[in-house]
Amino acid sequence: MINVAIDGPAGAGKSTISRRAAAALGYIYIDTGALYRTVGVHALRLGVDTQDPDAVAACLTDDLQVELRFVNGEQRMFLGGEDVSEAIRTPEASLAASAVSAVPAVRAYLFDLQKQLAHDNNCIMDGRDIGTVVLPDAQVKIFLTASPEARAERRYKELCEKGMDVKYEDVLADMIQRDYNDSHRAIAPLKPADDAITVDTSNIGLEESVALVIRTIKDKLEN
Ligand code: C5P
Repeated sequence: MINVAIDGPAGAGKSTISRRAAAALGYIYIDTGALYRTVGVHALRLGVDTQDPDAVAACLTDDLQVELRFVNGEQRMFLGGEDVSEAIRTPEASLAASAVSAVPAVRAYLFDLQKQLAHDNNCIMDGRDIGTVVLPDAQVKIFLTASPEARAERRYKELCEKGMDVKYEDVLADMIQRDYNDSHRAIAPLKPADDAITVDTSNIGLEESVALVIRTIKDKLEN
């Protein structure tokens, strides 16, 4: 199977670009952030302090069901059978995802699921540690990045389009906080794999970024 790992900070365009590139190449697209978000929402619903690693780990009970299903070719997330694909996109869920993802038991819980999906499918998998930890043997690894301001601007527009009432300053602060959390945590910190190709989208638009990523993947697979 062909596995493409795309890692990078929040808001670099990973999911949109990965989804488009996967469609163009005939691969499935797997958004691993959605898995952490689903565990985050689970913890929030239980009223657990997501900053408390022991309390978060205790949420991973045997009856917890985190499922990723493809509906009309699109990834949807299910928590205990309920479709939470929209519920996991709130700013509160973003911070909860970032917090629970620093807990080793959560990463271990989601590891096998990610491995199995990549084993069974030609895929583009995006996340933070796909090239470094989950799929160290991926044929192609891309580190997709952009400045915090460019990323906050995009995320802000996205949330506004969904009708959410948010402020740009809050989105930027949230972005900087998550960057810090993601890159300073002890386990699976956000960093490019040694053999990753860095693609910076700060100054290029979506179409150009998609084309660049597709070209990068094709070049790497041919050489
Ligand atoms: O990519 P997204 O912003 O949806 O990810 C939500 C959170 O999940 C991130 O802030 C990050 O902390 C965590 N995450 C992770 N490892 C991944 C994907 C996401 O730690 N592979």
